[in-house]
Amino acid sequence: MTPTYDPKTLLMLASVLTGVMGSVLLLMARATTPRIPGVRYWAAGSLLTTVAGVLITLRGVAPVWLTYTVENTAAMLAYTLFWIGSAKHFGQQPKLKGWVVLFVLAWIGQTYYTYVEDSLRGRYWSLTGYVFAASLMHALVFAQEIYRSRGAHGQRLLGVFFTGFWVSFSSLVFGARWLHAILEPQDGQSMLDSSWLQALYLGTFSFGLVIVNIGFLLLASERIRRNFEDLAMTDTLTGVRSRRAVVDAASDLFQRSKRSREPFAVLSIDLDHFKAINDQFGHQIGDRVLQAFCRRMEDALRQSDVFGRLGGEEFIVLLPATTMAQAGELANRLLLAAVTSEPDLPGVTVSIGYTDWRVADASVDDIFNRADRALYAAKSAGRNRAMHC
Ligand code: GH3
Ligand code: MG
Ligand code: MG
Repeated sequence: MTPTYDPKTLLMLASVLTGVMGSVLLLMARATTPRIPGVRYWAAGSLLTTVAGVLITLRGVAPVWLTYTVENTAAMLAYTLFWIGSAKHFGQQPKLKGWVVLFVLAWIGQTYYTYVEDSLRGRYWSLTGYVFAASLMHALVFAQEIYRSRGAHGQRLLGVFFTGFWVSFSSLVFGARWLHAILEPQDGQSMLDSSWLQALYLGTFSFGLVIVNIGFLLLASERIRRNFEDLAMTDTLTGVRSRRAVVDAASDLFQRSKRSREPFAVLSIDLDHFKAINDQFGHQIGDRVLQAFCRRMEDALRQSDVFGRLGGEEFIVLLPATTMAQAGELANRLLLAAVTSEPDLPGVTVSIGYTDWRVADASVDDIFNRADRALYAAKSAGRNRAMHC
C-alpha cells in the first residue's frame, strides 16, 4: 500500500496554520510584560515558514529564484530562528559564529543544485542536512534545560517536555531523510515520491511546524504563569517575600519538623511608632524607611533564613534548624541592625517577639500566635527589645 496525499496541499495547509500560530505568538509577545524571551524569534520563524509554504505551492507558476531559492532560504532561516528562540527562552547563548559558515555552505549547495546542476537529490541533502543540524542544536537546548532544572522544586513543565520531545523526534526524521539522500542514488526522483520515509519527512516537516508551535505557545504561557507566581510571592514595595510566600515556607518547615523533629524558630518584627514617622516625614519617606530596613535585615540574615513582609510595617523571619537560644542571639543582632539607619532617613527601632516550634503545635498558626504574643509583650515592656514566649 502506498500513501496517497498531495504534498503541496499538505504544506500549504500546514504553513497557513503555522502562520496563524506565529501571529498569535507575536501578539502574545507584544501584550505581555515582562517580555517573554525567545517569543519574537519563534514568531518570526513561523511567519517565515508560512512564506516558504506559499512559495512552494507557487512552483511552476512563479519564477525558480522565488519558489526555490527564496523558499529554501526562508525555511533554513525559520529552523535557525526556532533554535535561537528556544535558546534565548531558557537564557542560553546560541553560538552563531560557526553556524553562519554552515548556513552559507547549505545555501551554496541549494543554489548549485538549482542553477548549475538541476538535482532534487542534491537540493534534498543540502536542505535536510541543514535543517537536521539546526533541529539537533534545537533539541540540545531542551536537553540542556531539562538537565539544568533536574531536581528543581515545582511541577514538571509540560511545554519543555512536549516541545523537547517533538524537536528531538523531528531531528531524527530529518537525519534519516538526509542520510537517505546521501546514500541512495535513486533518491529524489520526484517530490511526490511516495516512499514511507518521504511521507514521514513531509509530514514531520509540515504538520511538525504546527506541533512545534503548540509547544512554543505552551512554553510562553508557562512562562507567563511563572511570572505571575513570582509576582504573588514578592512584596512590591520592598522586594522581599510576600505574606503568601512566608506562609507557604512556614508550612513546609512545619511539616518537615513534624517528621524530622528538627527545631526551627520564628521571629515576629514590628517597627516602633512607625505612624509617627509617616506623620512627621510623610508617607514617601516612610516607604523608603521600610525599603532600607529590609535591605539591612537581609544583610544581617543567613541565606537559608526566610524573611518576608506580612503587611504594613510587620515582618517575619523563619529560622530553619535554629533553637530558641540561637533565635534570641539573632534577635539581638537584628535589633542592632534595625537602628543603624541611612544618613538621609529618620532612624527606627523595632520590637521582636520570637518562639520555637514545639511538638504540641497543631499548625503554624500556633507558632505565629505565640510569636505575636511575645511581640506584644516586647511592645508593652517599652519597645526596642526582643522577648520570647
Ligand atoms: P507601635 O510601636 O505600637 O507598633 O506603633 P506604630 O505606629 O508602628 O503602630 P501601628 O501598627 O498602629 O501603625 C503602623 C503604621 O504603619 C500605620 C500606617 O500608616 C503605616 N504603614 C503601614 N503600611 C505602610 C506602608 O506601606 N508605607 C508606609 N509609609 N506606611 C505604612
Ligand atoms: Mg508598629
Ligand atoms: Mg504594626
